[in-house]
Amino acid sequence: MNHVIDESVLNLKGIGKETAEHLAELGIYTIKDLIWTFPYRHEDFRLKDLAETPHNERVTIEARVESEPTVQFLGRNKSRLQVKVLAGRHLVKVVFFNQNYLRTKLTLGEIVTISGKWDRGRQVINGTTIKFGPKLDNADFEPVYSLKGNLQQNKFRKIMRQALDLVGEDLYEPLPFELLEQYKLLSIVDALEGVHFPKDANHAKQARRRFVYEELLDFQLRIQALRKAHRENEKGISIQYDLQRIRQFISTIPFDLTNAQKRVVNEICKDLKEPTRMNRLLQGDVGSGKTIVAAISLYAAVTAGFQGALMAPTEILAEQHAHSLNSWLEPMGVNIALLSGSTKTKERKLLLDQLHKGEIDILIGTHALIQPEVVFHNLGLVITDEQHRFGVEQRRVLRDKGVNPDVLFMTATPIPRTLAITAFGEMDVSIIDELPAGRKQIETHWLKKDQLNAVIAKMEQELRQGRQAYVICPLIEESEKLDVQNAVEVYEQLDLIYKGKYKVDLMHGRLHPDDKDRVMREFTEGKIDVLVSTTVVEVGVNVPNASFMMIYDADRFGLAQLHQLRGRVGRGEFQSYCVLLADPKTDDGKERMMSMTETNDGFKLAEKDLELRGPGDFFGKKQSGLPDFKMADLVHDYRTLEVARQDAVKLINDDEFWKHEDYKYLREKLEESGALNGDRID
Ligand code: ADP
Ligand code: MG
Repeated sequence: MNHVIDESVLNLKGIGKETAEHLAELGIYTIKDLIWTFPYRHEDFRLKDLAETPHNERVTIEARVESEPTVQFLGRNKSRLQVKVLAGRHLVKVVFFNQNYLRTKLTLGEIVTISGKWDRGRQVINGTTIKFGPKLDNADFEPVYSLKGNLQQNKFRKIMRQALDLVGEDLYEPLPFELLEQYKLLSIVDALEGVHFPKDANHAKQARRRFVYEELLDFQLRIQALRKAHRENEKGISIQYDLQRIRQFISTIPFDLTNAQKRVVNEICKDLKEPTRMNRLLQGDVGSGKTIVAAISLYAAVTAGFQGALMAPTEILAEQHAHSLNSWLEPMGVNIALLSGSTKTKERKLLLDQLHKGEIDILIGTHALIQPEVVFHNLGLVITDEQHRFGVEQRRVLRDKGVNPDVLFMTATPIPRTLAITAFGEMDVSIIDELPAGRKQIETHWLKKDQLNAVIAKMEQELRQGRQAYVICPLIEESEKLDVQNAVEVYEQLDLIYKGKYKVDLMHGRLHPDDKDRVMREFTEGKIDVLVSTTVVEVGVNVPNASFMMIYDADRFGLAQLHQLRGRVGRGEFQSYCVLLADPKTDDGKERMMSMTETNDGFKLAEKDLELRGPGDFFGKKQSGLPDFKMADLVHDYRTLEVARQDAVKLINDDEFWKHEDYKYLREKLEESGALNGDRID
C-alpha cells in the first residue's frame, strides 16, 4: 500500500530546491522523516500573572496600551521603543528593540498580547513578540525545532503544519489497542499533533507520555527478545562442579560469608550447572566482598575440570587478585597464574604453553588476556572485574576464546536500576547488598584547601596508631603526564614533612612495573605508611590497615569515582576517615561534596550521580551501551521504563505476540532491529 508518509517532502507546497537541501541536512527526505522530527521545546505563550512570574522568565500577557509609544534611536538601524501597558493590576513598561515600526501600530486603549522576558526589579518586559488583539485560544505553544543553516523556525512550522494536515488519519497505529486502552495513551495521530502543535499543556504532556512509552517498549522488546535468543540459541556448557569440594573450600576461608555472598554464590552456581551460557552481572558496593565470590565460582569451574579466567582493569588489581586467589586456592591444589604486560618473554611462553595444555587452572590478568596468542585448553568461566571499564568489543573477544564460556561481570560501581535494565537489560543481575559484619561507617569530611594543616595533623594521628593512609592527587583532565607531575610534587612535600617519622611513597601509572609491584607490596605489608597516588589505586585495592584517605581537589571527580576511591579505606576493623579537600566553584561540585559527606551508600550516590551528570556521562565517555532516545529520559521516565519492561517480558513470552495481527507493527520493528538474530542494539 502506498502511504502519504512515504512520499518525498518535495510534494509539499513551498518546498523548493534550497529548502529540500536544508531538510536533507537534517536527514529529512520523506514526509515520515519530517513528522518524526520532534521539537526540542515549545515556546510557552500561556498567559501569566506578573505577580507570580519570577525574574528573568519569559512571560505572555494580555494588556491595554496606556501611553503613546516613544522611540529612541541608538545609531545605525538600532532603536528602542517603549510603551506603558496595563496588564491586570500591573502598569508596566514594555521595551522593543529595533522594531520602531510598531510605533504607528500601537494605539492608546487597544488590547495587545505581548511576550517577552520579565525584568522583575525594574518592572519592564523586554518584548519579543506582539500580537494585536486578545490572545487566541489555541495559541499557547509554538514548537521550536533544532534546525540548521538558513531554515527559519516559522518556515519549518508551516511545512510541518502542512505535512500533518496532509497525512491526516492516514497513519498506522503501531501500539496495540489493548495497551492504548490500558494506559489511556493518545492515538498516534493525536500524539503527533500534540508533540508538534499541542492544544494545551496537557495535550503536550499526553503526547510525550505516549511516545516515551512507545520508545521504551520498543527498546525493552528488543532487550527481552535478545535475552530469549541468548537463552534458546546459545548452547553453553554445563559445569558439573563438585559441591563437596566447594563446601570444603568455603570452610577454609578465614571468615564467614555474608548471607548476600551465599545467595549470589548460589545464583552463580545454578547458572554454571545449566547448559545455557551464563551472562550475569554481579553488583556489590565497594568492600562487599566480591573477590571471594569470584574465587568460589572459579573454583567451582575447576572442580568440574574447566579452566577459569579473571580479568582486571589494572595491573595492580590483577596482581592483587592473583595474590588473594593464591592464598585461598593454592592449598586446594589449584594452579593459578598471572599474565601481565610485564611478564618476561620466556616466562610468558612457558605460561602460555602450560595454559594451552590445561596445566594452569586459573589465569588472571588485564586485557593481556584477550590477545590472540592466549589460548586456553578448555575455558569454562570468565570473570571480569569492574566490567564497566571494558568495551563491548573486548568482552566479546574474551567470550569468543572458549566454547561459549559462562561469563560473570563484576562491578563495584552500583548502577542505578534504570541504567542497569537498559544498558545491561539482557543480563541477569546478582546483587550483594550487605557488607561484612563489623564494618564501621567511613567518616567523611569536606574541608577547604586552606585547612590542609588540620588534615595533615589528623592523618598523623592515625599514623601514630599504626594505621596507614592514602593521599589521592587531583585528576588533571585527560593528561596522565600532568597527573603524575602533580603526584610527584605532593609526594615530595609530604616526604619532607614526615622525614624520619613515616615512610611516604609514590604510586602512579608511569612507574616501572617492577616499582609498582614493590610499592604495592610494601604498602600491603605495612612497610609504607603513606601512599601518595594518582587514581590508579581507585579500583579494588585492598589494604585493611589503611584507615585514612585524603583526596586533593575532590570536586574534580565524579561521585561514582569518589565513592570508589573512598572504598579503599574502611576495609578492616578500624574506624576510617576520608577527607575531601576541595574548593568547588560550581553548585554541582558543592552538591557532590555534600552528598559524599552524607552517605556511604553506593547505590544512593549512583542515583545522585545519574541525576547530576545524566545517563550519557554516567559510564564515562567511552562505551556506555545506552541507546539514544528521542523522547525518553532515563532519569525522569524511570517509572515508565519499569512498566515498559514488564510489558515487554510479558509480550515476548506470549504466543499471541508472535502471531496476532494486533502486534504486527511491534513485531516488524523488532525484526528490523536485528535483536531476533541476537544482535546487541548499541
Ligand atoms: P570488593 O567487593 O570491593 O571487591 P573485596 O572482595 O576486596 O571487596 O573484599 C574486601 C575485604 O573484605 C577483603 O579484605 C575481604 O577479604 C574481606 N571480606 C570479604 N568477605 C568477607 C566476609 N564475609 N567477612 C569478612 N570479611 C570479608
Ligand atoms: Mg573488588
